[in-house]
Amino acid sequence: MAKVTPADIERIKREKDGLAVLEDIPKWIEDGVSSISPEDLVRLKWLGLFYRESTPGLFMLRLRIPGGRLSPPQWQRIADLSRRYGKGHMDLTTRQSIQLRYIALEDVPAIFSALTDVGLSSWQTGMDSGRNILTCALAGQLADEVLDTRPVVRELSRLFEYHPRYSNLPRKVNIAITGCPANCVHAEANDIGFIPATSHGVTGFNVLVGGALAHQYRGIGMALNVFVPPEDVVPLTTVLLDIYRDEGLRTNRSKSRLRTLVLEKGAENLRAEIEQRLRHPLQPAGVDLRALDHHDHLGVIPSTEPHAVHMGLHVPYGSITADDFEALGNLALRGGSGDLNLLPSQDLVLLNITNVSAISQHPLLTKYSPDPPLLERNAVACTGKPHCPLAITHTKEPLSQILSTLSSDIRLRQSVTISFSGCTNACTQQGLADIALTGVKVKVGEQWEEGADIFIGGQSGPKARIAERLYRQIPFSQLTRTLEEVILTHFADRLMHENPDGH
Ligand code: SF4
Repeated sequence: MAKVTPADIERIKREKDGLAVLEDIPKWIEDGVSSISPEDLVRLKWLGLFYRESTPGLFMLRLRIPGGRLSPPQWQRIADLSRRYGKGHMDLTTRQSIQLRYIALEDVPAIFSALTDVGLSSWQTGMDSGRNILTCALAGQLADEVLDTRPVVRELSRLFEYHPRYSNLPRKVNIAITGCPANCVHAEANDIGFIPATSHGVTGFNVLVGGALAHQYRGIGMALNVFVPPEDVVPLTTVLLDIYRDEGLRTNRSKSRLRTLVLEKGAENLRAEIEQRLRHPLQPAGVDLRALDHHDHLGVIPSTEPHAVHMGLHVPYGSITADDFEALGNLALRGGSGDLNLLPSQDLVLLNITNVSAISQHPLLTKYSPDPPLLERNAVACTGKPHCPLAITHTKEPLSQILSTLSSDIRLRQSVTISFSGCTNACTQQGLADIALTGVKVKVGEQWEEGADIFIGGQSGPKARIAERLYRQIPFSQLTRTLEEVILTHFADRLMHENPDGH
């Protein structure tokens, strides 16, 4: 059977909407996974189901978890589904989502129904639609936030439920909205980013468009020069998505992201078209309320609830077992509200803990620490090999090994953000990290080995910039030494200074 290429995707979408294959699943369960055509394996991604050659006959399932917020029934259900159908393993992602592996097609109807029961789904988490909406994991419960984004995140997510209004966009659309000044969601790396702002005494959002970090269309989100109060976020997004769906480039997938449309039209013309479709003028951008620095929301953080704190825990490289995930949820219940929210850094937060002593000595907090070593604290890695079919290299294991080796030699007083993507698709948004690694193949002697290009100097927030390449093609065998040199040379101001008296 012919393999599907990028040039086939528009035809595949025209012939049948991705969401429509839901009704075919019972037939495929009867006839076996091998009966599914390559085109339909692509369409299944609209339902969040990704066939994986690395686990023959089985799928990866990506969940939609708006803003990464999970109530006790929801995290209990996910842990249960992972244990029952996914060998008890889960990955927390940089879009505040969870991926389950080893999913058999015959279990999918039961999984879909179990997710729906607790208000979750996997709809439109793949291919050309709107991905999980990012927001601050502490939205509504952070003492210094500008405004609570929870209601608008719910509304935005409804645009991408099981209906086809935006299931055939030219490419995927990443949306982030945050009322937190701490730049925790990297809004400027999203196709549409809403950042906290104020205008004439009203708090709302300035709008960025066209952020994307994959190498073919790399760029920080551009200012649309628009301020919107919270109630206008969904209407503006709807119009923007309509324009992108109807006018976005569909002939070259490597350039089809919203960024291309913005660059072609120009932000001013795009804004005028949005105003015309909304039938009212838009306010010019307000005062940007983002702080200059970034906060990762790990550790103990004051809550807006009386006598409560949040506890942000580091989950190394986002890999966690269902048992540990559920145990952390139970800690959240024992000490506080029981809510367990996911961070875009592949970490999680136990919300509104009123009884810190009930949980602070628990052995799990050694493994998932509120105060991890600074070298590893802000390190993220994408799926990589063997489970991502686009991966050029492994990611999580090599980065984990390198940083644990280096942590005995390098003592930091301020963390360095390190981000490793196994190909140029930038799923970890590595372009905004202090140190960004992109997996490449390297010729060493007569052999091809796994390695990485190294970039430095990325930053999110009002002075966002994309990391620039420092080294090409460093084989994994030399990566530890090279990274050590990079940190000692380029991040010397973050090193712990030795006491000259030797004390
Ligand atoms: Fe896969 Fe590349 Fe994304 Fe990593 S960055 S998960 S290797 S597509």
